[in-house]
Amino acid sequence: MRRRYGLSGMELKQLRAVVIDNALRQQLGTHAGAAGYEICAALYGYVENSSLVVTGWRRLTNRDPSGCFMVSVNELLHPAPSGEKSRLVGLFHSHLQGSAQPSDLDCSSIARLPFVWTITSVAGDELRAFTWSKAGVRELSVQTSSRSTEGPHNVSAILVDSEPSIRQGG
Ligand SMILES: [Zn+2]
Repeated sequence: MRRRYGLSGMELKQLRAVVIDNALRQQLGTHAGAAGYEICAALYGYVENSSLVVTGWRRLTNRDPSGCFMVSVNELLHPAPSGEKSRLVGLFHSHLQGSAQPSDLDCSSIARLPFVWTITSVAGDELRAFTWSKAGVRELSVQTSSRSTEGPHNVSAILVDSEPSIRQGG
């Protein structure tokens, strides 16, 4: 049976990278940079070999913008935007202060949800991706692609590739 959302244990295990189109990455960076609070979004995509290819995103309402962020499960599991054929595979949110390092709260959510967790720093220069493994939080490399047919895009000044690395967080 085809999964409607989330990644299987096998997929989570095999993932090494998140591949995101330059244009999508710019959109997310603009969305995050324009808000004065942590913003969040649902990410859609598919797994190809050891990469998660992001195909689209949908804005989610932050229900606790004064704190960190909170999204309703109902809203998260809403149907995908029209034309989006991929399943829900991840969550994106921004950090207003500091880096795109996952907080303790982020880590506990990463451990509980079968999604890839992506974080951007609004200060500006990072987009990092994390998932869960038996050993703890595991970082995936983030790679940009330019498969878009909308024309040439400049790599966003807002978000720059993070170094591929595998890291364990606490
Ligand atoms: Zn966070």
